[in-house]
Amino acid sequence: MSKIKIAVDAGHGSDTAGHRTPPMPSNIDFEKDGIIDVKKGSSIKEHIASVGVCVRLEEELKRNGFEVVKSGWNDAKATDDKDVALKTRQAAIKKAGCKYSVSVHFNAYGDGSSFNSAEGVATYIHSNPSRVGNSKKLAEYVQKNLAKGTKQKNRGVKTAELAMCNCSSLGTKASILVELAFMTNLHEATNLMGNADFWQECAEEICKGFCEMEGKTYIAKTKNDKPKTIYRVQIGAYSKLENAQKQLDKAKDAGFKDAFIKEDK
Ligand SMILES: [Zn+2]
Repeated sequence: MSKIKIAVDAGHGSDTAGHRTPPMPSNIDFEKDGIIDVKKGSSIKEHIASVGVCVRLEEELKRNGFEVVKSGWNDAKATDDKDVALKTRQAAIKKAGCKYSVSVHFNAYGDGSSFNSAEGVATYIHSNPSRVGNSKKLAEYVQKNLAKGTKQKNRGVKTAELAMCNCSSLGTKASILVELAFMTNLHEATNLMGNADFWQECAEEICKGFCEMEGKTYIAKTKNDKPKTIYRVQIGAYSKLENAQKQLDKAKDAGFKDAFIKEDK
């Protein structure tokens, strides 16, 4: 059986005008690895954080048996993505034959030059009944999961005339757009948008929503996803090299082409 395709769309591009936080009053370290990603006085770009979520969402969806079609990004490097026109994104998703799509964004309020108190997480679907498909159900599952993790104002499922929610143009059964936090809210920009742990949490929650939509049990990341332990098989230990060589020849004759001698002193 072929896998269900889900388009994962990262909003905007690396250099899209606007679509960023006001200047941050402190340094931002996405991964908490000691490397400053956004210097004090600079802005966190929406596309950078969106790709951070999309990369993690791809991993989540693949582990859960879905196929992922990337839209608006191509890899974890978010600094070299051109902004793709919405019509181009729609056409590519339609051509790929996706059952679902999700567009990942961060919200803004006001003119974007200063921080304000607007906050929270929302999921959007198309406002036109002939364009919305089965998106309401998917949006409710995703929003329910997004509201579970980090405590945020739950803005609920909202409707708007959005290109990335237009199931007719996208050729999808359901299409949603998530606004994960406000980049114009200082707390959300600093602790959520600028935090890779939040990106991971959102990826898991969005994936859980898709799993519920398909009646699947969500498969969480396990230790097995980390680099695997390697188990070697030893078939003999000899004090004379010629005996070791004889055993190696036997092993190779038996078809174990990768067998080798390792000297322990
Ligand atoms: Zn956006």
